Amino acid sequence: MSGATNVLETPLAKVRDQIVRACAEARRDPSSVTLVAISKTFGADAIEPVIAAGQRVFGENRVQEAKAKWPALMQRHGGIELHLVGSLQSNKAKEAVTLFVEVNTGAEPQKAGVLPEETDAFLKACRERYGLVIAGLMCLPPAHEPPAPHFALTAKIARRNGLSLLSMGMSADFPLAIEFGATHVRVGTAIFGERAARGETQ
Ligand SMILES: *Cc1c(COP(=O)(O)O)cnc(C)c1O
Repeated sequence: MSGATNVLETPLAKVRDQIVRACAEARRDPSSVTLVAISKTFGADAIEPVIAAGQRVFGENRVQEAKAKWPALMQRHGGIELHLVGSLQSNKAKEAVTLFVEVNTGAEPQKAGVLPEETDAFLKACRERYGLVIAGLMCLPPAHEPPAPHFALTAKIARRNGLSLLSMGMSADFPLAIEFGATHVRVGTAIFGERAARGETQ
């Protein structure tokens, strides 16, 4: 068992395997979950092998960083879909723009997002006043609380607003998020390893 690294043992392969297992447990089709590989802080050298392993959907949380890194990578590789995972997430693929509204389920003052009790009205305003098509909701539960209630709340708000996409679950909790209906899981550390601190909470 020495020598070349087995592809099945790469962090990306492990994450994919966990997604398949979580889907099986939740009786969901694995194709209903999109893995968004969060590559923030990592350079092209770390991203290239992940693309080579077949990953095509990536996420960044800073526009400047995305603009500096991704045009060259996209020129080298076809079919890349880049998501901006900010408070208003957009995923610009060709002419289609998919928007996710972030719900601040923990009502944390330092976090972006709409308060749960204000989300229905916010979505209504997006639709009726601004003509925006919101595809789904996103949440980022408080770091030191069990995430399940936050996933459940976000899913409930999405359901009653007729939204089918749910972006929730990160390295520590994406299998659980899948159980609660996540259609997009945003996984960074479990694929790329630990990030060097850069003075932010996320
Ligand atoms: C960094 C980040 C992630 C990924 O977090 P990990 O714990 O590294 O998986 C997910 N979502 C958002 C919005 C992020 O900023």
